[in-house]
Amino acid sequence: MEKYLDLKNSTDYSKLKVAGDIIRSGGLVLFPTETVYGLGANGLDKNAVKKIYIAKGRKQDNPLILHISNFSMLHKIAKNISKIEEALMKTFWPGPFTIILNRTDIVPDIVTGGLDTVGIRMPSGKIAKELINYANIPVAAPSANISGRPSGTNISDIFDELSDKVDYIIDGGECEVGVESTVVRVVDGIPNILRPGKISPEEIEKVVGSVKIDEHILKNIESNEKVLSPGMKYRHYAPKSNCVLVYSENNEKMIKEIQELAKKYVNPLIISCNENAEYYDVEHKILYGSKDNLNEIAQNIFKDLRKVDEFEPDIVIIEGVKEDGIGLAIMNRLIRACEYHYIKL
Ligand code: AMP
Ligand code: MG
Repeated sequence: MEKYLDLKNSTDYSKLKVAGDIIRSGGLVLFPTETVYGLGANGLDKNAVKKIYIAKGRKQDNPLILHISNFSMLHKIAKNISKIEEALMKTFWPGPFTIILNRTDIVPDIVTGGLDTVGIRMPSGKIAKELINYANIPVAAPSANISGRPSGTNISDIFDELSDKVDYIIDGGECEVGVESTVVRVVDGIPNILRPGKISPEEIEKVVGSVKIDEHILKNIESNEKVLSPGMKYRHYAPKSNCVLVYSENNEKMIKEIQELAKKYVNPLIISCNENAEYYDVEHKILYGSKDNLNEIAQNIFKDLRKVDEFEPDIVIIEGVKEDGIGLAIMNRLIRACEYHYIKL
């Protein structure tokens, strides 16, 4: 059987039936969502879900998100939903928003890493939605990448690391958002952002009047610290090369710091916004987009992080961005890519 489906320039979603059947019967499917590509399996079948952990090399205590396509699926897997949780889902679904809810007994332990809660998302990407409809069960789908690597936002970036580990591949071109969903857990009536994404703290606050940003979003976790989301503990998004993040609200100051830092190395690579590139006199540069368009930077960031190792740089210096809106999500990913090596001026 041909295991590759090209939907980059086609809207013939009826072809997704094959992939839906593969998921239902316990196989693994690589598929696009509006955030990043997912590595999907039947979320109610523990043996299928186990294959995801093995394919990614993911730690067993790092739970998966279940993807649904309608509210009747929600009530099979979650219970005791509060008014605030309901309001958040109604506002942000379908879309790049994940909510942590109390789970029901049909959700296998392996999905939640043994927790009594489960992460749930209703994606808006058309391919994801149709695929889940055909599978007609909640689809467990972490980001499509080997654990620790940048998430996949197009098929060619992840083909080598995942193609021989999956039963089917759906190519939907580049993902629209480019960073993973916002993850929220409501604690004592207040939405806590455990992972920032396209849905910003400001938007969440508008719905329920309050929001809390978990302190670990931009900060390292001590080895014995208790966290609300196991994923926060792990090394993430990192190229093999040594990376450092530099940011100042004062653009000139940031440029100067990066110029000085670059001089200390033999083969530095600089990742910057388009506007600042002309100030850096180095052989290797990657431009992640305009500093006035954080959506564009979010869309490019994982793809750019995947490019750096081929230049064999002795340092990768990355310009930070303003933590506004999706900027907070970009900084959260970059800080981890740099393993908390962050110069804030
Ligand atoms: P990924 O699958 O790569 O998009 O990562 C999913 C993220 O959601 C990880 O950071 C997980 O730790 C987090 N997550 C999933 N389920 C839960 C849960 N029940 N409680 C807290 N965090 C969760
Ligand atoms: Mg991931």
